[in-house]
Amino acid sequence: MSGPHTRPAAQSAAASVPAGGLTAAQVGRQRTRSGPNTLPAARRPPVWLLLIRQLTHFFALLLWLAAALALLAGMPQLSVAIIIVVLVNGVFAFVQEYRADRAVERLRDLLPAQAVVRRDGHRRTVAAADLVPGDVVLLEAGDRVSADLDLLSAAGLAVDESLLTGESVPRRAQAGQVLYAGTFVVEGAAETVVAATGARTRLAGIAAISQAARRPPSPLAVRLGRVVQVVAVTAVAAGSVLFGVGLLLGLPPRQGFLFALGVTVALVPEGLLPTVTLALAYGAHAMARRNALVRRLEAVETLGSVTFICTDKTGTLTCNQMTVAQVWTPAGQARVTGQGYDPHGRIDAAPAVAAQVAELAYAAVRASRGRLTPHGEAWQPHGDPMEVALHVLALRAGVDVDARSQREPEQLWLPFDPQRLRAASLCGGTLYVKGAPERLLADCRGDIQAALQAAHTMADDGLRVLAVARQPGVTAATAPTASSLDLLGVVGLLDPPRPDVGGAVAACRRAHIRLAMVTGDHPATARALAVRVGLCASEPVVVTGDQLPASDRELGELVDRDGVVVARVTPEQKLRIARALRSRGHAVAMTGDGVNDAPALREADIGIAMGASGSDVARESADLVLLDDHFATIVAAVETGRATFANIRRFLTYHLTDNVAELAPFVVWALTGGAFPLAIGVLQILALDIGTDLLPALALGAEPPNPRTLAGPARTGQLIDRRLLARAFGVLGPAEVMVSLGAFAAVLIAGGWRWGLTPSAELLAAASGAAFAAIVLGQLANAFACRSEVRPAFLLDPRRNPLLLWAVATELVLLCAFLGVPVVARTLGGSWPPAFGWALAALAVPVLLLADAAHKAWRGGRLSAAAAVRR
Ligand code: ADP
Ligand code: MG
Repeated sequence: MSGPHTRPAAQSAAASVPAGGLTAAQVGRQRTRSGPNTLPAARRPPVWLLLIRQLTHFFALLLWLAAALALLAGMPQLSVAIIIVVLVNGVFAFVQEYRADRAVERLRDLLPAQAVVRRDGHRRTVAAADLVPGDVVLLEAGDRVSADLDLLSAAGLAVDESLLTGESVPRRAQAGQVLYAGTFVVEGAAETVVAATGARTRLAGIAAISQAARRPPSPLAVRLGRVVQVVAVTAVAAGSVLFGVGLLLGLPPRQGFLFALGVTVALVPEGLLPTVTLALAYGAHAMARRNALVRRLEAVETLGSVTFICTDKTGTLTCNQMTVAQVWTPAGQARVTGQGYDPHGRIDAAPAVAAQVAELAYAAVRASRGRLTPHGEAWQPHGDPMEVALHVLALRAGVDVDARSQREPEQLWLPFDPQRLRAASLCGGTLYVKGAPERLLADCRGDIQAALQAAHTMADDGLRVLAVARQPGVTAATAPTASSLDLLGVVGLLDPPRPDVGGAVAACRRAHIRLAMVTGDHPATARALAVRVGLCASEPVVVTGDQLPASDRELGELVDRDGVVVARVTPEQKLRIARALRSRGHAVAMTGDGVNDAPALREADIGIAMGASGSDVARESADLVLLDDHFATIVAAVETGRATFANIRRFLTYHLTDNVAELAPFVVWALTGGAFPLAIGVLQILALDIGTDLLPALALGAEPPNPRTLAGPARTGQLIDRRLLARAFGVLGPAEVMVSLGAFAAVLIAGGWRWGLTPSAELLAAASGAAFAAIVLGQLANAFACRSEVRPAFLLDPRRNPLLLWAVATELVLLCAFLGVPVVARTLGGSWPPAFGWALAALAVPVLLLADAAHKAWRGGRLSAAAAVRR
């Protein structure tokens, strides 16, 4: 056999593989020669190039053009100011994006890849980076291939190579062929030897190529880009209109141009995109602290909009610390006692039954990979907790598994098959099988009815049930289809619910998030747990996978209710459930741990994989990885996602309010034909945008979740909606404008100005200073108002966002500097206002807070009135 997947025999490492794998010394020697098994670090563009990109994107170019025009028009001051804007904005955006990037990278490091090897004659789990050429690597369904491997032996092996070849149908692979790094084992098991690691793998070659290809922009980036574009077009249009109006009013073109430019620069939201990115990165980081790892930044936002969570049972809702509690054998029933994984326990049964329990336990362990191993004084579980529990049972029953295993060496390993719900191994000609009773018993001989009855009784008590059987005289060829098994018995395992699941379930209910338990387990077991953790009422809707309706519409109607339990579900059915719920308008989060769960995870809006127990395939297809496999962590992630969405709306409101305050003086000036002097100039606008406003906006992006975050339904849809616009343009903005133009006019009038006259330069500067101070102080109050969309600022605890307090303090210092340092003040065009000017400006704080509170109260009243009408 030859082809792209085989190597010439001379090149193959397989010929010289020692049976026990490499020794520690050999590994050490190889390591110094070959280095770590890691892909060469992505060659990222140099820092200066990233910075240049921030200075040359579309808006930056517009601003450069404006600066050039200003220079040509003989206004070097303005030109320099615009250049400062471009530079400050560019550096600011660069720093934020760089930080966001780094944050994501650090998250990735939290989830190291692992591999199972044989070294010094023992199975070991090692970091994938530690693999060296010659290492014997053991693979089974669900594993990621971490180096280029030569296949020594394979049983029913199929690999998904879509990453390398784009081919989505798994390839069947046999001994002598090559498995490439970056592919996944989707079926079967194999023993392999490492042929190439790190930079010498085929993946490394491909990675080098694909790095050049740019990632497509995320939906969120596209949506935001559209928002920014609309605002920018509005800005340019407003600038042009003002320029035209100015000319009509007989303004010198030079001055008209200045105004038009000011308006445009004021409205262009240059810093918005990087601020959003940073808010998402901040959210991702907050999630990681709560053990939830997002694999794409935009998933942070999607998580906030989740309306339906399909969760599995084992490990997510339960502790996944199993102990065998009961054993049924054809000879009779036995009870098992003992603490957790402690191998010293008791089997309560008649001697004849105890002997059968021992036989069953030995068979179950042979059909497993999970083991309990001594570790100094203590014992340590390795692998699937259910299988470990079976090993514990064997130890408690006094079976010497190791001694018997030596006499019956393993010939073939058939890992857990989620379709047939069983796992098996062929040892010394005997096939040992364990699996879901209803399925396995169909292939068994013996008292099937009694066994089924026993399984049902255990499941009703909430135990996880498993049947165990064996069949002598089997060969490797007949093993996969063996179907006249001798029944050994049924095991009932206890897996207590996680203590805080009840609270998380209740939180979902408050958040109007529907829940469904979607599990491969027995319906009765699933139902008992669902009732126990409060997922559903005492008479829950429980269906099994094969009872699901064939039409997707009916399926959607069936599962689209709170607290449904779908048991004995296959990965294909999970996929259908996700699709049916999505077509009913739900944003679906779906958990999965198995090999075949990948399609369902990709179909869901948020695919959730288990970091501790799940397969590599599932993790690689997921949007969210739970480091602790815990259901409550999903809820915590949803909460953080909602908080992040709210934060983005917070600083958008904050920015837009400021834009109103900046634009109004120009509009008033233009509409009065220049009779009402211009309250603030272009340079002052720039000082607001890139000076005083910057830090409070960032601090609003770091607002922590509050008790209301999970109260009520998800805020889905647009970041910028009518409500947000009405608030910024209809309430907050006008309040700020009123105070700033009022303070401006008052200072002018007190200084002797009358309508239509041109004030003296000093007077104008002082009045402008008052207007400027009013806007800054208004924004200060606005930062606090924007912390909530429903509650007035004075009901919010300021200590919950210490960052904001610092930002506001800095804002005040900047305000004093902009007005108080003579050179700066002169350049910007506003001077230190008189005391009563300050007093009027300070009114901005109460006026804004009161306007905001009144608006919130009015809206709240309208909402509850609407709710009352509906009731
Ligand atoms: P869950 O949704 O509880 O995680 P799984 O899909 O993991 O359920 O398992 C479904 C059923 O398959 C279990 O109830 C059990 O009967 C059987 N099963 C699970 N793991 C194994 C295994 N390692 N070996 C044999 N049978 C298993
Ligand atoms: Mg499972």
